Amino acid sequence: MSEAQFTTDDAGIPVPSDEHSLTVGPDGPILLHDAYLIEKMAQFNRERVPERQPHAKGGGAFGEFETTEDLSAYTCADVFQPGVKTEVLARFSTVAGERGSPDTWRDPRGFALKFYTREGNFDMVGNNTPVFFVRDPMKFQDFIRSQKRRADNNLRDHDMQWDFWTLSPESAHQVTWLMGDRGVPRTWRHMNGYSSHTYLWNNAAGDRFWVKYHFKTDQGVEFFTQDEADQMAAIDTDYHTRDLFEHIADGAFPSWTLHMQIMPFEDAKTYRFNPFDLTKVWPHADYPLRRLGRLTLNRNPVDYHTEIEQSAFEPSNSVRGTGPSPDKMLLGRWFSYPDAHRHRIGANYKLLPVNSPHAAPVHSYSKDGAMRYTNVTDPVYVPNSKGGPHADPSVSGPPVGWHTDGEMVRTAYTLRAEDDDWGQAGTMVREVLDDAARTRLVDNIAGHLLNAVTEPVLVRAFEYWRNVDAEIGRRVEETVRAKQNETDPKAEKQSNPARSSAQRKA
Ligand code: NDP
Repeated sequence: MSEAQFTTDDAGIPVPSDEHSLTVGPDGPILLHDAYLIEKMAQFNRERVPERQPHAKGGGAFGEFETTEDLSAYTCADVFQPGVKTEVLARFSTVAGERGSPDTWRDPRGFALKFYTREGNFDMVGNNTPVFFVRDPMKFQDFIRSQKRRADNNLRDHDMQWDFWTLSPESAHQVTWLMGDRGVPRTWRHMNGYSSHTYLWNNAAGDRFWVKYHFKTDQGVEFFTQDEADQMAAIDTDYHTRDLFEHIADGAFPSWTLHMQIMPFEDAKTYRFNPFDLTKVWPHADYPLRRLGRLTLNRNPVDYHTEIEQSAFEPSNSVRGTGPSPDKMLLGRWFSYPDAHRHRIGANYKLLPVNSPHAAPVHSYSKDGAMRYTNVTDPVYVPNSKGGPHADPSVSGPPVGWHTDGEMVRTAYTLRAEDDDWGQAGTMVREVLDDAARTRLVDNIAGHLLNAVTEPVLVRAFEYWRNVDAEIGRRVEETVRAKQNETDPKAEKQSNPARSSAQRKA
């Protein structure tokens, strides 16, 4: 037991009381020069940083990534050289819910990683799904708003979710995935993580490859049914957060095996669909998974706010041997993530211990700004003849990029033979799911639509599912219509929180 400590204020000055304000007599007014009371009130009022816009509710832990296989022919990144072990931070989250929302709502899960590599921090802002709802960052803001809350009553609204989805057919693959079993993982330990985006790798000789990252859970994939998820949301809002923390505290460290899909650079030009389209996967038969290493989480944060809430992940933290691809969503996120951190945490968010490199030095010319506590010394400019740091391409690695040329346009990706919105969603329904999983899919969709989605969105939703798969579409419509007929509208009005205001008025 450490020696008893006395309370001080933030300037280290011992305070006379933990309990009593300074007053004029025991019953008199409080005095403004009670600086300690003022400090306590003011500090408390400023405790919260703005929550993340999407991905507000989450938890995380530290651990290690060990590269166990040799894929050095494809990347010169130090973190991915055989035998290298790298400290990692992982943060898992839901997307649409606020900081206090239930962990078991149906939603994709964030799977964000920060590798503290010897060549600087390398981040992957992945999800537990290999695809996404939209393929152009112009639509991202609208998509997230449609999943959050209405302007008038501040309620979430399935009607606006389906309105957006059915008017955005590129969402079909991700929505199929979301409405299926993996839309509610049993725990964060029981879900896979995917880069989803395609990235570029290059080796020491400068040869380039397109890659996708797949972190496969070593605990096995497990899910909650909708009923189980609803019950858990009522019993334990923080179930996933608690599960991860307690398992790590008990020494039951979760792990994931990282596999890569690797596409030769030239393949992308002629592949049967655009390989950079975030709404599509690369079939394993074309680009098989190649094992690279293992991620193990073995250390809980000791302070949630400074280590998890203020953690800042950004795809632009991209080290030697890795880089972006022409995926438009990825290029949008390359800007948007650091921008969000500057707003949420402050201009110097990278100085916080959780966000600064742990295994690489910083020799940047960034300077001053709010809350900076360590600064560049003279010379404060480059080029200089005073011995300051200077860029060295032999250290930063072979250039990452690709040849591009064309008029400036606002248009979709150039269509190729198999660039459609429905095909891979249909493949999942017909070839990946079994009968029981298909039935749960139909029930989940029907439950989401029933008494919550209005015309003409409802009819569009039936059409949407017929486009994914004729049989699933038929079953969804049949289930919704049958239940509509047997429903007592008054009872439903009270019981379905997702019912839209438009319907309430009807
Ligand atoms: P494969 O048969 O090689 O792979 C099927 C994939 O589906 C596996 O990765 C499996 O993950 C995953 N899966 C199984 N059940 C579900 C579920 N309920 N929800 C979501 N994913 C599930 O097929 P292909 O590579 O040819 O892809 C066929 C379809 O599988 C795709 O259209 C896509 O919808 C889906 N898929 C494909 C992925 C890919 O990267 N190729 C990744 C995930 C899904 P696991 O092995 O972990 O069980």
